[in-house]
Amino acid sequence: MFDHMDTRCVHGQLDPSFAEQTKAVSFPIYQTATFAHVRLGESTGFDYTRESNPTREHVEEHVAALEGAAAASAFSSGMAAVSACFELFAPGDHIVCSEDLYGGVIRLFDNISKKNGLTISPVDTSDLGAVEAALTPATKALYIETPSNPMMNIADLDACAALCHDRGLLLIVDNTFLSPYLQNPIDHGADIVIHSGSKFLAGHNDTIAGFLCSATPELGAKITLINKTTGAILAPFDSWLVMRGMKTLAVRMERQQSNAAQVAQWLTTRPEVTNVYYAGLPDHPGHDINARQARGAGSMISFRTSTVELAHRVLDNVRLITFAESLGGTESLITYPALQTHPDVPPAVREHLGITDTLLRLSVGLEDVSDLIADLTQALRA
Ligand SMILES: *Cc1c(COP(=O)(O)O)cnc(C)c1O
Repeated sequence: MFDHMDTRCVHGQLDPSFAEQTKAVSFPIYQTATFAHVRLGESTGFDYTRESNPTREHVEEHVAALEGAAAASAFSSGMAAVSACFELFAPGDHIVCSEDLYGGVIRLFDNISKKNGLTISPVDTSDLGAVEAALTPATKALYIETPSNPMMNIADLDACAALCHDRGLLLIVDNTFLSPYLQNPIDHGADIVIHSGSKFLAGHNDTIAGFLCSATPELGAKITLINKTTGAILAPFDSWLVMRGMKTLAVRMERQQSNAAQVAQWLTTRPEVTNVYYAGLPDHPGHDINARQARGAGSMISFRTSTVELAHRVLDNVRLITFAESLGGTESLITYPALQTHPDVPPAVREHLGITDTLLRLSVGLEDVSDLIADLTQALRA
C-alpha cells in the first residue's frame, strides 16, 4: 500500500490483475446482474452482483486503503451502512452514543433499533466521565461522531478506544465529516468506521452511498455477510462515481478546508454572528484533541446568528451558496439543522444540544473564498 494519502486517493491499492486485462486507466463499470459459471463447481469469483461485483469490490478496496482498514463494504446509502452495522447486535444489547449525531441516525435509533430490542443511551461523548457513567453490563458498543453533527463537538478517539477495549466493547466512529483524508479512526483504536459516501468521498453532490470499514478481517467478514444478505448494496455505476470522486479527495479536502478556515475566522468578526463552531478555531474546546487525532478541522462550520430573523434572512438571501441538505461536495451548501437534518429529534433534546432556530450549518465548497464571504456578507445584511 502507498504511504502517502494523496497517492492512495488516486490509486487506492493498485490491482494489477484487472489493469493487465485491458489496460483501462479508469476502472470499468461492470453493469451486470449475473456472471456465467465457468463450469460446474468453478466460478470466476463473481456469481451475482448482490453478492459481489468487480466495480463495487474495487471501490471497497479503495475506501479500505484510505482508512487503513482490513476490509470495507459498500452500501446503497450511509443510512443503509449504519442500519447494517446495527445488525451486529441482538435484542437486549445496549449502545452508548454521542448525543449530538446525524439526525437520520437518531431517527433510526428511536424508530427501528428500539423496536428491535436495543437500548441506546445518548451522552456527551466529549466528556469521558459521562461515557463511562453510561456503561452497563449489557453495553456492547460506543458509537461516536467527531466532529459531531451539527455542533462540531470533539471526542477523544484514543481515550474512547481505551475505555472500550478494556471492556470488550466495539468502538464505532462515523468519520463522514473529516473523511479518511483528514482522520483515520482505526489508527486510534476504532473497530468500525462509517462513511456516508454521499458526502466527501463522492464529493460532487451527485450520488448516495455508504461504507462500513472494519479494523479486522473477522469483523469485515461479518459485515460482508450482512451486506450481501440484507441486500442494500451499492450499484456498479454508483460505485464508479464514488471511485472517481475519491481520486480528487486530497485536493478537494485541502482547498475546502482552507476556504472553511478563512470563512470561520471571518464569521467570528461579524456582529450578526454570536457563535462559531469549528474545531480549527483556537478557542474551540476540542481544538487540541482534534489537532492530535486529525490532520485538520475539515470544511464543516456551524454558526449562530443573533436573532431567528437573521438566520431566516441568510437562508432566503444566499445566492452563490445553496440552501440545501447534505455536505462535502464541490458546491457550498447551507443547512438549517432544526428543520432539515434534525426535525425528528424531540424539541427539548434539540434545545439541550443547541440545535435551535438560530443555528446554521455551512458546508464550504470549492468556490473562491472571497466570493463565499461576499455572498454571506450580502445575505447577512440584505
Ligand atoms: C449524511 C450522513 C449520514 C447518512 O448518509 P446518507 O448517505 O445520507 O444515507 C450519516 N452520518 C453522517 C455524519 C452524515 O453526514
